[in-house]
Amino acid sequence: MAYKITVDKDKCDACESCVDICPAEVLEMVDGKAEPVNMDECMGCESCVETCPNEAITLTDE
Ligand code: SF4
Ligand code: SF4
Repeated sequence: MAYKITVDKDKCDACESCVDICPAEVLEMVDGKAEPVNMDECMGCESCVETCPNEAITLTDE
């Protein structure tokens, strides 16, 4: 199973919580917004989804 992370950049205010909490370093800040740069490493733990104060992150299974 592969997971897909989507960041709604209009909602992201660059708090970096998701970057800090991800155990697999999937997310990085790119041009001031969180971006999944290492999607293959995502284990679907949902920590980023839960920590985002703006509900900017969506996790889907593919
Ligand atoms: S679901 Fe977990 S492993 Fe995947 S990007 Fe979010 S924090 Fe990282
Ligand atoms: S936790 Fe949410 S608001 Fe904060 S950097 Fe990540 S996507 Fe943006």
